[in-house]
Amino acid sequence: MSNVSRETFDKVMVPNYSPLKIIPVKGEGARLWDKEGNEYVDFAGGIAVNALGHCNPELVNALKSQSEKLWHLSNVFTNEPALELAEKLVNATFADKVFFANSGGEANEAAFKLARKYAFDNYGEEKHEIIAFKQAFHGRTLFTVSVGGQPKYSQGFGPLPQGITHLEFNNIEMLEKSISDKTCAVVLEPVQGEGGVIPATQEFMQKVRELCDKYNAIMILDEIQTGMGRTGQLYAYMDYGVEPDLLTSAKALGGGFPIAAMLAKEKFATALNVGSHGSTYGGNALACAVGSKAFDLISNQALLDGVNERRALFEAKLQMINEKYDVFEQVRGKGLLIGAALNQKYLGQARDFMVAALEQNLMILMAGPDVIRFAPSLVVTEAEIEKGMVAFEKAVAKVVNG
Ligand SMILES: *Cc1c(COP(=O)(O)O)cnc(C)c1O
Repeated sequence: MSNVSRETFDKVMVPNYSPLKIIPVKGEGARLWDKEGNEYVDFAGGIAVNALGHCNPELVNALKSQSEKLWHLSNVFTNEPALELAEKLVNATFADKVFFANSGGEANEAAFKLARKYAFDNYGEEKHEIIAFKQAFHGRTLFTVSVGGQPKYSQGFGPLPQGITHLEFNNIEMLEKSISDKTCAVVLEPVQGEGGVIPATQEFMQKVRELCDKYNAIMILDEIQTGMGRTGQLYAYMDYGVEPDLLTSAKALGGGFPIAAMLAKEKFATALNVGSHGSTYGGNALACAVGSKAFDLISNQALLDGVNERRALFEAKLQMINEKYDVFEQVRGKGLLIGAALNQKYLGQARDFMVAALEQNLMILMAGPDVIRFAPSLVVTEAEIEKGMVAFEKAVAKVVNG
């Protein structure tokens, strides 16, 4: 038995996180257990990562069998799992080429660097401006916090990369006014995740595509949270019928094993020529073997269809709870990325709901201070949804009744 506890965190860890009290030690599907054996229903899914549940047996097998063959080579060599996963991604999407990284932030970093480089090579250094959106989240590297639309994440880290404009999300008029021949890229999330579970409108998505074409700017979709089945499609852009030029994928891509990818159309991919960018671990054989299996399981039509069936169950329960307690302004999002926006009376209290839920043995998330977020496993069972929602109702009652 391990001697560490939550107090150990405060002693030996950098204080950039403030983890909740319990430490889960075991997981299976959409359930977790702590050291004392308490059981929890998990609607957080490692923040939209464990799309196939905890310790999915097929992913465990993929990891085990690859771990006995080959772990890592570096990019001096390529490896079979990486090539297999890249082929699958190319065959299933708009993309012709893939670059592997280890985290979402790194995949975005690659996309933003590619966009700058492509514009520089083809149009000159004047064309370097990136248009991004308020509340957007793109990662925690210096470039990605700068492109992200939440100033709190870049404050104090300056001087920041320049040439980035933040516009109101879903505002077509402002985009038309701001985009120009100097724009090298427009980047957006199909559903802003961290920013409050706010979907891009169909018109907005189409307009971004249209204006990027008009001004020779690269359209980048950050599908790190929306990708790999989360919205009921393999990638959310498929729902909009609008193809990006670059797309970044992470979170569910490895089902819990760290891996990320940037997908690119051929024309743009060539900007990252030999030596221009890289990553020691990117395309690691273990990660790609797990990613490849996760891809097979998630790209299954029955699984994808099940996502919106499950969403309907969540929505029905949330509506029922709201009729009783009047706490939500709106339930929004796509597929199993669900945001319950608190009404006027409960603004700023999302964390209270999260803590109250944990006391009822339920894990949920927030998306900013005003939105409760659910991002469960895509294969969460009806019984687990039922059980979790009973716990959630109790948590809501606790917060409402003080
Ligand atoms: C989580 C997330 C990221 C950052 O991914 P990391 O793996 O934490 O670097 C970037 N963009 C979006 C939309 C995300 O949800």
